[in-house]
Order: sequence, then structure tokens, then C-alpha cells
Amino acid sequence: MSNLFYQGRGRKPVLDQARGLYMWDTDGKRYLDGSSGAMVCNIGHSDPDVLAAMRRQMEKSTFGYRLHFETEASEKLAARLAGLMPEHLTRVFFVSGGSEAVESGMKMARQHALATGQGSRWKVISRQPSYHGCTLGALAVTGYAALTDPFEPMMRMMPRVPAPRAYLDGLDPDDEATGHHYADMLEQRILEEGPETVLAFILEPVGGASTGALVPPKGYMERIREICDRHGVLLILDEVMTGAGRTGTFLGAEHWDLRPDIVVMSKGLGAGYVPLGAMIVDERLVEPVLDAGGFAHGFTYAGNPLACAAGLAVVDVIENKGLCANAATMGGTLIARLHGLMQKHEIIGDVRGKGLLTAFEFMSDRDAKTPLPRELNAYQRFVDIAYQRGLIVYSRRTHDGYSGDHILVCPPLIATEDHLDEIIDGLDASLDQFA
Ligand code: PLP
Repeated sequence: MSNLFYQGRGRKPVLDQARGLYMWDTDGKRYLDGSSGAMVCNIGHSDPDVLAAMRRQMEKSTFGYRLHFETEASEKLAARLAGLMPEHLTRVFFVSGGSEAVESGMKMARQHALATGQGSRWKVISRQPSYHGCTLGALAVTGYAALTDPFEPMMRMMPRVPAPRAYLDGLDPDDEATGHHYADMLEQRILEEGPETVLAFILEPVGGASTGALVPPKGYMERIREICDRHGVLLILDEVMTGAGRTGTFLGAEHWDLRPDIVVMSKGLGAGYVPLGAMIVDERLVEPVLDAGGFAHGFTYAGNPLACAAGLAVVDVIENKGLCANAATMGGTLIARLHGLMQKHEIIGDVRGKGLLTAFEFMSDRDAKTPLPRELNAYQRFVDIAYQRGLIVYSRRTHDGYSGDHILVCPPLIATEDHLDEIIDGLDASLDQFA
């Protein structure tokens, strides 16, 4: 019995060591980390360069409160991140995780509205399903009823539009008309709400745990940007999972040349070494807020020098090892291999993803797109089987409107073809056992 509690009961194996893509528990059992934890460990475990950078920083200073000091680590990381963003995103605000980053993005948008005489704007439209975090503000834009329902009386839920699930609606994701069809639902919603009340639209460029690596259809992102511009609505891009190379480019936005007003990122930036997140904002939004008295928001650990030094070393590793390009190449191979599994295993109804953010979805009838019955608890059963076999994958049951079980396969971006072979073999054997 442990004094810890997270989700449910039962004690998990105790982690002893982790290196690269592998982890060992205290009984000496080895696991292949096929989900980078929760799509976090983008550069793999225990990279010596990151450990050395952390040690160097710890020997200099471990904390400087952001209202008392700038630190070399936070200034350097801010400059480095700004250099990796679309040109107009120049101002960086550090936090310690994804939910904090999302909260910051929404509060930044609101304070900009207040500072520019647009106080009537407060609604942040989001998508259903979606996941933006577990704090109450981030939950208010999360489209995931099982997580939001218990807390609804404690927060002000925000308006939703459907996520563009073309594969379920039988629409061609490569046809621009499909992208426009879903994007236009945003415009309709803005008009229904009253454009003067709408502050921002928040979305994940490629869906994560909520939709299982859902990639937007052609034309969607471009149209979304046009619609936001037309109605003075800010575009907040939640790159918490997709950022730091996961989809094959440093930001997911790059696939569509998208120009968000605010980007939030976290997971792959600290890469599991430290709790770290960042909000990166268009200069034009920041200046009026600073002129109006400053950004009334901030967390004690923001800009922590150890976290920033680690983040800087993580970005170095991503660049020096060419991990964005590797994620793109290995992601293509992984998708092809997952399609191979789909041919063999009837139960796989869809395969999708971008870079090394990939997923497959279980269906009882592939043509009719029928999900497995909820009582089967298929996602949990499958993940447990794989885990017993020493393969870690990540899974969720998608809620709201459509309930499918998807399995995310998202190894660290340092994965090689040999690692992919091992993952596919593990999935194949687990699917045989699951059937
Ligand atoms: N946004 C997205 C897209 C995420 O995937 C997550 C976490 O899974 C979050 C926000 C919340 O991040 P955190 O768990 O670090 O608070």
C-alpha cells in the first residue's frame, strides 16, 4: 500500500531507470516507451547533454524569482523559442505545464481585449472533443464530458464547435470542401454568439488524447484563420502536445503556414526532464497590455532557471540531432506499418496521424464506423495487455458525440526503424492476445 493516489486503486510497478526509449522497473523488467510517457519525452530519457546542462545550472543558481531577476537561462530560451516561431510571435512567457500555458493564453487574450477597448469579448470557442488541461479555466474549453461534467457548476463553460472528424462523417479529408465545411461551423457559431462577445478560438493543430491524432482536413486551417480575422477573434494554438517537433516540424502550425496570435506549448519542451511550458505571443498583443499596467498573471515557478536551462538543452538536442526531420520520416514509416497491422487485424478501423503523433482506432465494424461497446473497456484492456508485454502505449476513449477507443503510438523522436519494428511486433502480439 502506498500513500500516493492518482487514478483508481492499485499500485503500479516502481520505475528504476530510463535511457533512450527504454525504462526498467525495480524488478528489472524492461519497457519500451512507445508513447513518450504522455507524449512528453520527445528526446528520449536521460540524455547526457541535458543532464549536464541541468547540473551546470544547478551549480550556478537554482531559483531566481521572476519579479526580482531575469536569468541567463530564461532569456536565452526565450530568444531561442522566438527564433523558432513564425516571425510575428516574439514575446515569451514561461510557465510550468500545459494547463498553465492554456490559462495564460486565455488570460492574455482577455487582457488584450480590455486594453484595447473590447471588453465585451470574453468567450473562448473550442472544439468537441478536445483536451486543453485540467485546471478550471482550461477545463472550461475542454471538450470531454467525463472530465468537465463534475465541475460544471464551478466554472463557466465555453461554446463549442465540432472537431473536423471527416473519417467518421464519410468526407474526403483531401478535399478542400471538407475543410471548409467544418471551418464554417466556427463562423456560424461566432455569428450565433455575437462576434462582439467572442474573444478567441482555441484548437490543437493535430488532436492529442481527445481525438487520437486527428489531422485537420485540407483547407480547414486556412479558413479558420480567415474567419478569425474577419470577426476580430484571436487564434490560440494549443501546441502543448504537438510542439517541440512531435509532428515532424518544430510547431504543428508549420504544416499549414498558420499564423496564430498566441501559441502555447509544454510537454516536449521540458521533455520530461523538468516541468516547463511557454506562451509565445504576437508583439502587437503584448504592447497594449504592458501599456495598460502589465499582464496581471503569473506563477511562482515561472521562468525557473533550472527548467529553462533544461529546456534550452532540449531544444539543442532537437536541432543537433535533426529530430523534427526524424519524426517526419519515422512517422511516415510508422503510419505505413500501422496500415499493415490494419490489414491483418479487422478490429482496427482507422489509422491516422502526423509525424510521430500517430494513432489507430478500434471499431467493431470498419465500414459502418461502429465503435466497440463502451462496456468492453477496450482501450484500457489493450493498453494493459501491451504493458504486460513491456510496450507502453497511450490510450483514451473519445467522448461526446462519438465514442471510439483509440490507441496513441508516439515514441520519442529519436526512434529508429529497429525501434519501430519492436513497437509493431509488440502491437501485433498484443492485438492477437486482445482478439
Ligand atoms: N493541452 C493539450 C493539447 C494537452 O495534450 C495537454 C495534456 O495532455 C494539456 C493541454 C495540459 O497539459 P498539462 O497536463 O501539462 O497541464
